[in-house]
Amino acid sequence: MARSPETPSPASSSQPHGLAATRLVCPWCGASRSPDLYPWCRRCRGSLSAEVDRPLDLPAVARSLWDFAPLLPAGPVAVSLGEGATPLLPLHTLFPGDEVYAKAEWMNPTGSFKDRGAAVAVSAALALGAEGVVCASTGNNGAAVSAYAARAGLPCIVTLPVGTPPGKIVQARAHGGMVVEIPGTFSDAYQLAERIQEADGRWANLTSTFANPYMTAAHATITYEAWAALGERVGTIIVPIGAGPMLVGILDGADRLLHAERISRLPIPVGVQAAGCAPIARAYARGESEVTAWEGDCSGIAGSINDPLRGYPADGTRTLRAVQQARGVIHAVSDAEIVQAMRDLGRVEGIACEPTAAAPLAAFRALERTNPLPRPVVLIVSGHVLKDPMSQPECLALSLTADPTADPREFIAAAKTHRRSIPHPKCGT
Ligand SMILES: [Zn+2]
Repeated sequence: MARSPETPSPASSSQPHGLAATRLVCPWCGASRSPDLYPWCRRCRGSLSAEVDRPLDLPAVARSLWDFAPLLPAGPVAVSLGEGATPLLPLHTLFPGDEVYAKAEWMNPTGSFKDRGAAVAVSAALALGAEGVVCASTGNNGAAVSAYAARAGLPCIVTLPVGTPPGKIVQARAHGGMVVEIPGTFSDAYQLAERIQEADGRWANLTSTFANPYMTAAHATITYEAWAALGERVGTIIVPIGAGPMLVGILDGADRLLHAERISRLPIPVGVQAAGCAPIARAYARGESEVTAWEGDCSGIAGSINDPLRGYPADGTRTLRAVQQARGVIHAVSDAEIVQAMRDLGRVEGIACEPTAAAPLAAFRALERTNPLPRPVVLIVSGHVLKDPMSQPECLALSLTADPTADPREFIAAAKTHRRSIPHPKCGT
């Protein structure tokens, strides 16, 4: 079952790292302790934060996530595949003259933002003596964790729901992960991963809800990179959320910038859920302060964020309260809105992405109709189109079948006609 350990890769073992200055702090009861592999607060069993007590010394230009190493709860070995430092692309064709940007998280090594958390958490797990890693996943996290586990020479178990897009499963297998498909939802996969970690405390749980505080903390690097590119002008950050650790990590980074007086106000955080599985958006819309699990069907197109939170609704409550405290918004979008956003990002901006990654654009358009958001706006485009190609609106479109000796001018004319047939959506529509 377990693979033989290999020599941990590369790294910058001489660079300063944050784990030595890290405390695990419980946001629910205030308890704190030194870093270890146990995922929960020992007093109240709440989820934890990994807080690094170091001055906020930021590089002017980051070339890698590891340029932030002193601020991250990672160990001395940087388990790296080249993650972080993703481009911030202006969407100047969709929104001419406006300040709307796509944070290109699909350009991380395994094709999603999950690589940031996996790199930091595998590095921390190595330093804390882990003998293996397990994670529950809707697909992207398993692809990422298995890659970094391979790089570190650790055995890896990935639990995911039956029906996960095959491309994501193949990625995990290709990285040497042992994939376990569960008949049920992500919540069922979550509970199996938790039981595996509890059966052997020398294993680390890298489920990217709030089960791993080292992963959550890694997402602050997205904020630091956006701040480096746009300065304190960042007005709004729009993030797809299942349980919401990426959004909470981004907000933690913004809080640090605020306390260090690098910015004078927090950006407005917008969390985006899919209407077919939206426990946090439902609680937000009702003005509640606690999230309850989603009991209905979870079969919407945005599989990466279809998390019903069954058995761990407090994870949703943590995200809800962070957004409420920052005066943000949580909004649910329909499959139809997501499909339109996918179509426009791909055909108009050349940014084809998986459904979840288009949800921020769908939410931006919906919210703009009633209440314009502060500029600049940063949309987190979280995953690559090849993660889930069968969900693309164009996946059933037919290529031309033609005689290769036909008049080339016919192909040129046809291509021009095809481009002219693509409608140009206007801002806010
Ligand atoms: Zn606690």
